[in-house]
Amino acid sequence: MLKRLPITFWATVFVAVVCLSLVAIDGWRSLNARDELLAASERITSNLARSMAQHAEDTIAAADTSLADIVERIETDGAGPPAIARLHRLMEAQVARLPQLNGLFVYDESGRWVVNSRPVMNLAYNNADREYFEYHRTHPDRSPHIGVPVVSRSTGKWVLPVSRRLQRPDGAFAGVALATIDLDYFTRFYQSLDIGRRGAVALLHKQGTMLVRRPFDETRVGISIVNTPIYRQFSAGGQTGTGFFRSTQDGELRMNSYRALARYPLFVTAALSRDEVLEGWRRDTLLHSFGVMLLALLLALFGKRLIQQIERRLQAERELLQARDALESLNRTLEKLALQDGLTGLANRRQFDVTLGKEFSRAARAGSELAFIMMDVDYFKQYNDLYGHSAGDDCLRAISKTIRTLTPKRPGDLAARYGGEEIGILLPQTGVAGAQAVAERIRKAIEALRITHAGSPNGVVTISAGVAALVPQLPDSLPAELLEAADQALYAAKSAGRNRVHCAPPAA
Ligand code: GH3
Ligand code: MG
Ligand code: MG
Repeated sequence: MLKRLPITFWATVFVAVVCLSLVAIDGWRSLNARDELLAASERITSNLARSMAQHAEDTIAAADTSLADIVERIETDGAGPPAIARLHRLMEAQVARLPQLNGLFVYDESGRWVVNSRPVMNLAYNNADREYFEYHRTHPDRSPHIGVPVVSRSTGKWVLPVSRRLQRPDGAFAGVALATIDLDYFTRFYQSLDIGRRGAVALLHKQGTMLVRRPFDETRVGISIVNTPIYRQFSAGGQTGTGFFRSTQDGELRMNSYRALARYPLFVTAALSRDEVLEGWRRDTLLHSFGVMLLALLLALFGKRLIQQIERRLQAERELLQARDALESLNRTLEKLALQDGLTGLANRRQFDVTLGKEFSRAARAGSELAFIMMDVDYFKQYNDLYGHSAGDDCLRAISKTIRTLTPKRPGDLAARYGGEEIGILLPQTGVAGAQAVAERIRKAIEALRITHAGSPNGVVTISAGVAALVPQLPDSLPAELLEAADQALYAAKSAGRNRVHCAPPAA
């Protein structure tokens, strides 16, 4: 079934497969490259989140250590003037030492400034209204509290308040120790990260508040992010995670990694813009796809031309073959006509002569016998005279048909119209006896046809035959000898009364 499909079909399949493979391989390569880029962006954001978390942790821990120290001193040494003076020096030194530290402050239970890190104390401020103050007044726990960034009353800068509760030995609220961390310290670090033009990073409170973000926008400080998908995923569990989220801040779709701080109730997110990550890939893929499509198109066009050429050539070949077949069959017909007798359908004299020559040499080479029967219709002249030439022809045809059927069909056996109403039969590898038997069978068969012949003493058409055979001895023997011997035997048969077979005497 497959074998019968033409070569042009397979050529078309081949071109199609090549074109499709080209497109498929390029598409596959492209998708792979895209997956790799996205996986790399996941690694990058994950590493960024890790270093941001570490940075925030270290920054806050340093400030918190100072706070714990201050709390311990006040609760041990009290707030007398000498203790306050020592504390003031300590605070100044700490702020000078830690670059992230904006200031250190101590408030009493009513929110009044007790001592701070400023060189000159302005005690006119009262911070009882701040969120952290209210928090510690109402919460007895002693761990550090991280508030929402505010604009500092003393310096006018954005600061992140980290505070601890002061309490009396009986556990009553005694005020607040506060450290303020420059928000700048975070934004500068975040600014130094390579997150592309459309990336974003942020420090957030676990309760769902935005603390710092790059790009920085002060109107976003302290806003709630409780309803963002990334917060929902974060609060659903897991201290770290990654995923694609569309930002509720600017609508950008980003690869996000988030990570919770180990010691403080904060978490960070680092995100790269998906479009930006894939920008180069898109350009590359577009260019590639265009190139590959063009190549496939050219290949397809070229293939089509080629297949058409093949088709045309095959067509020409088919026509040539048809013409050759027609010519050959014509030739065969002509050959047949040239070798056949028109009236009887037997071999003609020309074919007989050629075959006789061939068989004569073959018999000579093989040392085998070659027999020849010469037949002649009896009183045929009278038959023509009595029944007409056309009836004579019919009679000849009937006789020939009988002879044809009774002549052996081995290779080399040949019945031929030898002369007017004389028919010769050549029988290679046959002796006189064999040939005589054949001749006798034919003679009887023709007599049995019972073709009425009023001019013959037998009343029907009969034939006489002379048989001869020899083993040709080259170069002494000649084909003519065989014909001559058969002819003489025929003459003898005629003389002996016709309707009989006579054999030539063995050659001397
Ligand atoms: P015999 O018994 O001695 O052979 O007598 P015959 O009359 O047959 O004598 P012969 O063989 O010499 O006769 C040949 C005759 O055969 C001459 C001719 O009229 C006739 N003849 C030869 N060829 C054809 C032919 O193709 N068609 C017809 N109708 N007659 C032919
Ligand atoms: Mg004759
Ligand atoms: Mg005759």
